[in-house]
Formats: sequence, structure tokens, C-alpha cells
Amino acid sequence: MAALTRLFKPQFSSLLFNRSLSTLSQTNSSPPHTDDPNDGGSRSFQWVFLGSPGVGKGTYASRLSTLLGVPHIATGDLVRQELPLSPQLDEVVNQGKLVSDEIIFNLLSKRLEAGESRGESGFILDGFPRTIRQAEILDEVTEIDLVVNLKLREDVLIEKCLGRRICSECGKGFNVAAIDAKPENGLPGMSMPPLLPPQQCASKLITRADDTEPVVRERLRVYKEKSEPVEDYYRKQGKLIEFDLPGGIPESWPKLLEILNLDDYHHKKSAAA
Ligand code: ADP
Repeated sequence: MAALTRLFKPQFSSLLFNRSLSTLSQTNSSPPHTDDPNDGGSRSFQWVFLGSPGVGKGTYASRLSTLLGVPHIATGDLVRQELPLSPQLDEVVNQGKLVSDEIIFNLLSKRLEAGESRGESGFILDGFPRTIRQAEILDEVTEIDLVVNLKLREDVLIEKCLGRRICSECGKGFNVAAIDAKPENGLPGMSMPPLLPPQQCASKLITRADDTEPVVRERLRVYKEKSEPVEDYYRKQGKLIEFDLPGGIPESWPKLLEILNLDDYHHKKSAAA
């Protein structure tokens, strides 16, 4: 592992350290967690989204990235772009296992480098770090401001993964599952209507090959074993915000903005648009 760190650290650290920490936006309403006394509040967001498969990390990270003007970088998307080129990688992903750190750091470095050349700063990472080792390496090279941990009951996670569909043309995600989970074993009930595609996407929907029930169960098992400790890692650093999703996007999005202290920012931005 030490060799791995040495292998990646020079490349990864130079990318992250050289990133320009530009002013977030022209709005007067400042969102939280950016006011670093050393930079006069001008530092961009460096956030991480954690959560089990199917919880909605991509959905909420992507909405926040639009709101905050920082890139949403999902390592799962980076991995999926490589699958047609690598049968070995395809096999690992379709068994619900984690890809090697070496591959993940290479993909992430390339993505950050491309973003840097486009003038990007800050990030919302989704699906990374997924192991303690990845979190430690990330900490060696940059400072994470905030970690959002999204949570949902397991039966709902499974239903959501099995209902997930992607438009093969525009890449947008939808969900055909109508979830109506009854209160059970102290867990609150939960209902989420399907998130159906517009007409132009309806005939182009595909299902991720790793969204089958046995593979989803294996991904959940791997999450518990390898990624739940990462929650604790950031909890100990005082950076973790836990968010139990209360339902679908209409209920959850405003509440998430509220706990992130971004509701006012959102209103001012919408009014200015
Ligand atoms: P999920 O819905 O399970 O959160 P993702 O889209 O984030 O899925 O990732 C899909 C797959 O890509 C994972 O099951 C894993 O094989 C691989 N992967 C993504 N991010 C990482 C990472 N940080 N470390 C190792 N493997 C990863």
C-alpha cells in the first residue's frame, strides 16, 4: 500500500494542489463551510457524498453541483466509461466488487486534469473515497470541507436500484419503481413515486448491468464492509453530515438544502436567474 501511495501521490497531489481556488459566485448570499479564515472566504467547495448504492448520491450531488457551480465527479461514471474497453474491469464491476485503487486514482487524476484545463475549481465527489485507504490518500493531498452521508432503509435501496433506468442517448437517470414501504421494525414508512422519463427518452432506456438483485446485494455487502468505515473516518474529523432521506426528490431536496444551510442561497440564486 505504501508503494501505491508513492505511485499516485506525486501525480494526484500536483493535480489537486495546483487547482485554482477561485471565487465561488457573485451572489451576496454565502453558503456554509467555505469560510476558511486563510482565504477570505474565496475558497471553492471540496465536498464528498457518501451513501449506499441506490441512495441517490448522483441525483443530489448533481443538483448541488449545478447550484454551487462546481463539478460533480462520480467515479462510478468514470469506471463505466471504461467498461467497453476492458472486459476485466467489466467483470469486476458486474460482480459488485470494488475496482483497484490504481485504476480509480488513474481515472480520477485524468478527470481532474481535464477539468483543470477547462478552469474548473472545487468538486463534489460521488463514489469516492470508498475505502479508508482512499480517504487517507485524499487527505494527504487536499482538504475536504464537508462530507454528506445519505441514508435510506435497505429494502428501499434494493427497489430503487432495480427500478433504475438510464437514457442511452442523453445519459439522464430515471426510476420506474413505485416505492411504498410500510413502517417496519421501527423504520418509518416511505413512499416514492416513479421518476418517469420524458417521451424522447422513453424508448431509449437501459438498465445498468450491475443493477440485478444478486449484484445489488453484493454491492450493499461491500459497502458495509469497505465504505461504512469511511463514514466513521469523517465522523471523527467532525466533517460528516448525516441525512436520512425522507422520501423522493420533492420532499428531500428542500430538506437537504436546509441542513446544508443553503436554502437562502438557493432562493437568492433562483431569484437572480
Ligand atoms: P453504486 O450505485 O454502487 O454506488 P457507482 O456508480 O458509484 O455505484 O460505482 C459503480 C462501480 O464502480 C462500483 O460498484 C465499483 O465497482 C466501481 N467503483 C466506483 N467508485 C469506486 C471507488 N472509489 N473505488 C473502487 N471501485 C469503485
